[in-house]
Amino acid sequence: MAQQCIFCRIVAGELPSDILYQDDKSVVIRDIHPVAPTHLLIVPRVHIPTLNHVSPEDAPLLGHLLVVARHMAREAGLTGEPGDEKGYRVVLNCGRGGGQAVFHLHLHLIGGRPLRGIG
Ligand code: 5GP
Ligand code: ZN
Repeated sequence: MAQQCIFCRIVAGELPSDILYQDDKSVVIRDIHPVAPTHLLIVPRVHIPTLNHVSPEDAPLLGHLLVVARHMAREAGLTGEPGDEKGYRVVLNCGRGGGQAVFHLHLHLIGGRPLRGIG
């Protein structure tokens, strides 16, 4: 655990936060500055600063985070049939230039409003 890392402290229960889901590998919280009606953060319990720091051994964990994102999307009512209006976005920002502000790897799950393609 990195001492000053906000997400490590949330995962450890040192900082109060609304934990929506947790398992042995991950925790899901609401983003404090949501950009959409649903804006969740899927946070691994282990401290990995950025995507640049992952190794091939982390592949199962990264896959697990996506499965959790999918589960939370379904819980939030964001999943639908192909072609319908429902949907969501999963984002992983890497590095300052990639928009990352908290250097503990995490996925954003964003949805509940129309989202345009990345451009
Ligand atoms: P990043 O820009 O690193 O991909 O995303 C970090 C996200 O964490 C931001 O959207 C920011 O609003 C959110 N955030 C920062 N500090 C906290 C916090 O203490 N609690 C929660 N729940 N979210 C936070
Ligand atoms: Zn951390």
